[in-house]
Amino acid sequence: MKLMNGMEYVESLREYNPDIQVKGKKVTSVADEPLFKPGINAVAVTYELAHIDKHKDIMLATLPDGTKINRMNALDFSTDDLLKKLEATRLICKWTGCGQRYLMHDALGALAEITAMMDAEKKTDYFSVLKGYLHHVQKYDLTCGTAVTDPKGDRSKRPHEQENPDLYVRVVEKNHKGIVVRGAKANITGAPYMHEFIVLPTRAMKKEDVDYAVSFAVPVDAPGLRMIAKPAGRPDDAEAPFSSNYGQSTALIIFNDVFIPWDKVFLCGEWEYTGKLAEAFANHHRQSCIGARAGLGDMIIGASALMSEYNGAPHNEVSHIRRSMGELIRITEGFYATGVAAAVYGHKTMAGNYVPDSVQSNIGKWMLAEQVYDIFRIAHEISGGIVVTAPTAEDMALPESGDLINRYLGGKHGVTGNERIQMARFIEDLTASKEGGFYSVISLHGGGSPEAMRMSTVRNYDFESQKEHILHKLKCFAKLEGTCKDCVTCVNDELCEQEC
Ligand SMILES: Cc1cc2nc3c(=O)[nH]c(=O)nc-3n(C[C@H](O)[C@H](O)[C@H](O)COP(=O)(O)OP(=O)(O)OC[C@H]3O[C@@H](n4cnc5c(N)ncnc54)[C@H](O)[C@@H]3O)c2cc1C
Repeated sequence: MKLMNGMEYVESLREYNPDIQVKGKKVTSVADEPLFKPGINAVAVTYELAHIDKHKDIMLATLPDGTKINRMNALDFSTDDLLKKLEATRLICKWTGCGQRYLMHDALGALAEITAMMDAEKKTDYFSVLKGYLHHVQKYDLTCGTAVTDPKGDRSKRPHEQENPDLYVRVVEKNHKGIVVRGAKANITGAPYMHEFIVLPTRAMKKEDVDYAVSFAVPVDAPGLRMIAKPAGRPDDAEAPFSSNYGQSTALIIFNDVFIPWDKVFLCGEWEYTGKLAEAFANHHRQSCIGARAGLGDMIIGASALMSEYNGAPHNEVSHIRRSMGELIRITEGFYATGVAAAVYGHKTMAGNYVPDSVQSNIGKWMLAEQVYDIFRIAHEISGGIVVTAPTAEDMALPESGDLINRYLGGKHGVTGNERIQMARFIEDLTASKEGGFYSVISLHGGGSPEAMRMSTVRNYDFESQKEHILHKLKCFAKLEGTCKDCVTCVNDELCEQEC
C-alpha cells in the first residue's frame, strides 16, 4: 500500500491527462497550472499530515492486516474511527480551509453500507465491486472527487421529466463490458487535481427515473469526460495571504458518453436504493462538514484574538470583546460537539462499517450553515473596518507611502501598520473577500442546503419513542390519582403496566 507525501501526490498528477478548461484556456499540465496551485497545496496537506508523528493517530487508519493507510481512504470500523475522522478533518481544514479528501472517505463509507444492503436484499454483487475499488484506492493512495450534485434544471421536475434529458447523469447504453453514461455534475470540489471521481445519485429516484439510478467510479481522464473549472482560491493575489496558498477549485464535469467498465459500477438501475445512498453519503459528509468548518472557526478565532491585541482592545481585558470571543468559541465548539455526538452515537451497518448518527450530523451541519455568517460578523466586529480598507500591496511597497501607512495604521505600542494590515488581510481573506464568500456558500450549500438538513433531521428523529414515553407517563399519573402513591418513584415500564 502506498502512503504518499505531498510532493509525491503532486507528481502523481502527471500520470493523468484530463480535459480541463479554466478561465477560457485549456490546461496542459494540472500539476504546473498556477490557477490550481492553492487547491493542489490543500490536497497535498492531507498527504503530508499523515507523515507527521504527532498526527499519525488521527491521520492514519489500520487495515485488518496491520497496514497503515491514510484515514481519508479508509472505512470506519468503530465509533472511535468516526471520531478520528472528524478530528482529522478539523486538522486538515485548520491548515487549508478545505482539503476536499474527506468527501471521498464519505462516499466510500456510504457505498459500503448500501452496496452490502443491495447484495443482501437483491442478490447483486456490488459490494465485491466496491471492495475491489476500495483496495485500488488504498493501494495507490488516491484522491477521488465526489460527484453527487447534478445540474438539476427545473427543480420542480424529476429527472425523467426535464426538457433536457441530460440534466441528471444517466445510463445511455449497457453491454457485457460495462455502461455508457451521459450528463453532468456541478460544483465539484477539487475536480481538476483529483485522480478519479466517485459518482453518486443526488436524490431518491422513482421507477420512471431508472436510467438515472447509477453510481460508479471513473478516472479523471476517461475519454469523453470534460471539466470546466474555476481557479482555486485567489492564486497570485498579493493581498490574499491565505487563499493565494490554499483554496479549492470547483468544476462542472461533463460526461459525454463515457464508458464505465462493470468493475467500477456500484449501482445501475436499482432506483429503490438511490435515496438510501444519497442519504448515507449525507450522514457521513455532514459530519465531515462539521469538522471542516470547525477548522475554519479555529483560524478565525486565532486571527480575531490577535487582531484585538494588535488594536489595543484585547479580548482578555475588554468586556464586550471578551463576550464576542466567547460567542465565536460557543458557535465553533457548539456545532463541533454535534460532530462528536454523531461519532459517539454512530452505529454499525450490514457491511460492518460504522456510520455517524444522522440526527446529530444533520443538526451540526444545519447549525454551521447558518452560524458561519455569525462567525464572520463577530470577527468583523472585533477587528474593525481595516479588514476591508487596508491600503493596497502596491501602495505599501512604495517607500514614500509605505512609511506613512506603517506609521499611521499601527496599533498598540510595538505593533506596526504592516503587522496590523497583515492580520486584517488574513481576516478579510477568510471572511470578507471573494474567498470569504466561497466559505459562506460552501458552508451553507456544500453537503446539502439547510432544507435538506431540516428534512433529514425530522425524517430520522425517533418521534415514536418520545410519544410512547409521554403516553406511559400519563397512564402513571392517572394511577396516582387512585391509591398507589408508590407509582411516583416508579420508572420501570413493566411494573407500571401492573394493577396497583
Ligand atoms: C463551494 C461548493 C462546493 C461543493 N462541492 C461539491 C462536491 O464536491 N460534490 C458535490 O456533489 N456537490 C458539491 N457541492 C454542491 C452542493 O451539494 C449543492 O450546492 C447543494 O446540494 C445544493 O444544490 P444546488 O446548489 O443545486 O442548489 P439548489 O438545489 O438549486 O437549491 C437552491 C434552493 O432551492 C431549494 N430547492 C431545490 N430544489 C427544490 C425543490 N425540488 N423543491 C423545493 N425547493 C427546492 C433549496 O432548498 C435551496 O433553498 C458544492 C457546493 C458548493 C457551494
